[in-house]
Amino acid sequence: MPTTTYTARPIDPRALKELRTTDDAGRPTTHFTDPEGGAPLRCCLRRSEPGERIALVSYAPLRRWAAETGAAPGAYDEQGPVFIHAEECGGPAGTALPFTNAHRTVRRYSAEGHILGGELVWTPDAVDQTCTEAFEQALAEAFDDPAVALVHVRAVEYGCFLYEVRRDQRDAR
Ligand SMILES: [Zn+2]
Repeated sequence: MPTTTYTARPIDPRALKELRTTDDAGRPTTHFTDPEGGAPLRCCLRRSEPGERIALVSYAPLRRWAAETGAAPGAYDEQGPVFIHAEECGGPAGTALPFTNAHRTVRRYSAEGHILGGELVWTPDAVDQTCTEAFEQALAEAFDDPAVALVHVRAVEYGCFLYEVRRDQRDAR
């Protein structure tokens, strides 16, 4: 396997600050205590623990990215539900790719913010490949296409956004 340094990007602190008050659908954010834990937190890229204060907000990842890059995604812009900590938090503890233990889709976007395709990433059957390696391979394949600027990793069943990976982060070592 080639060594790659793909970085899963959590929602950035400035966006989190806004989302903790008003979400990307314009709704006021309500916080609650998570009774069971297990919610995939997009601020810390880990699952919540029982008793943590969290919020479920609508988030527009492509719109937020486009605001930074000047892209015009047009109709490709969309928003969906994500869990975040209710209060300011420390962000991810490590650099390992998170949420790799289930089937995911890797959706590819151009620099203009248009969808170029998607790929289903399976948890591997082969004993010689770990989940992380399967993800690294899917990301490598996506960025092999020079037109791909950004990918979203999403849950398969609900289509929920989990995190983004940008091309520039692979090249910046
Ligand atoms: Zn957090």
